[in-house]
Amino acid sequence: MQYKAGSERTKYLESKGMRPGRLVAAPGDRVPDGPSHAVDVTTGETICGFPADELYLFDSIDWERASLIEKCTDCGKGVKR
Ligand SMILES: [Zn+2]
Repeated sequence: MQYKAGSERTKYLESKGMRPGRLVAAPGDRVPDGPSHAVDVTTGETICGFPADELYLFDSIDWERASLIEKCTDCGKGVKR
């Protein structure tokens, strides 16, 4: 993991978040609410420059692999492939 997800707002799931064949989160889990930024795991900085200390960091969410979260557009453009 090179980037983890950092979200400006979070919410608690009220029902099970399911996609076919994959359990995303369980009821009561904290999940991103709105766009998530890519936070460099080494530097702790976001790609787009959003202040990381204003974000709730999801240590278990790999930003590059996560397909079910809404992503910050600028962070997406900044990820080198
Ligand atoms: Zn961003």
